[in-house]
Amino acid sequence: MIQELYKTAIAIHGGAGTILPAQMTDEKEKATKKALEDALSAGIKILKSGGSAIDAAVAAVISMEDNPLFNAGKGSVFTNEGKHEMDASIMCGKTLEAGAVAAVRNIKNPISLAKVVMQHSDHIILSGKGAKDFARKMNVEFEPDQYFFTQNRHEQWMKIRDTGNYQLDHSAPVSPQNKFGTVGAVVSDQHGNLAAATSTGGMTNKRYGRIGDSPIIGAGTYANNQTCAVSCTGYGEYFIRAVTAYDVSCLMEYKGMSLREACETVINEKLVKLGGEGGLIAVDRNGNLELLFNSAGMYRAWKRNGKPTQTAIYQS
Ligand code: ASP
Repeated sequence: MIQELYKTAIAIHGGAGTILPAQMTDEKEKATKKALEDALSAGIKILKSGGSAIDAAVAAVISMEDNPLFNAGKGSVFTNEGKHEMDASIMCGKTLEAGAVAAVRNIKNPISLAKVVMQHSDHIILSGKGAKDFARKMNVEFEPDQYFFTQNRHEQWMKIRDTGNYQLDHSAPVSPQNKFGTVGAVVSDQHGNLAAATSTGGMTNKRYGRIGDSPIIGAGTYANNQTCAVSCTGYGEYFIRAVTAYDVSCLMEYKGMSLREACETVINEKLVKLGGEGGLIAVDRNGNLELLFNSAGMYRAWKRNGKPTQTAIYQS
């Protein structure tokens, strides 16, 4: 019997926020787009060789975690005590299995640890010391504090450190090099399976111990082969209250909405009403992609089977 191969599709984001053309240099724009293309290529390579949506999503996210331009892994923002605490999660649309880590420190690739939690623990979310001990046991890679330090993020933190406020990485009145954020990937592989992955350093000057939407299944990340896979970015507290990623899936499942209708309802109506800023990327079982945001910009790239790679930053 010949197995039917599905059309593959992949989308990634590098954060949403007040990203304005006036604050962007050509050089910066080129560097961002190149970083997005590299991450997308890492995922596509896996899809082309018949790999899984999960592995493609992880590869794309690792590429962005390793790039200090983005607020995830190396380049994560600072907490109010001057440290880096990272959140990440992953979900498999075929099995509905999920794994996540919250407020972890010194883990080189938090998305890898989230995947290990999904595949090798009986739990969904690990945090703090327990996550660290589990990472050691599973031979997950660690890095010292200096590895996560970047001058830009430090300056960004110094500017608001004593205000008691915290902010989206890319929504501050800061220089262009500070405007990169949380990362995520959604994938549909040739076996018809969906996956979503999200990773972040969170929000600058956040209270230490704060956990955002990115590691919360249903809020920042969700995947279900029957509906869609979603990865969010934005002001996490709103995304948690709106259960944003799962809401997209629910609108498709219970109201019969298309992926586009569901994403528009959630991002441009429900989230706006609540006062939440940000966006999401999503893919459905037919390989349709949506990349939607209610802020000025969202770093993003995408590719559908047989179509060219595309990258974009601002509202089009
Ligand atoms: N959603 C992330 C958080 O609240 C931040 C972001 O997307 O930039 O932790």
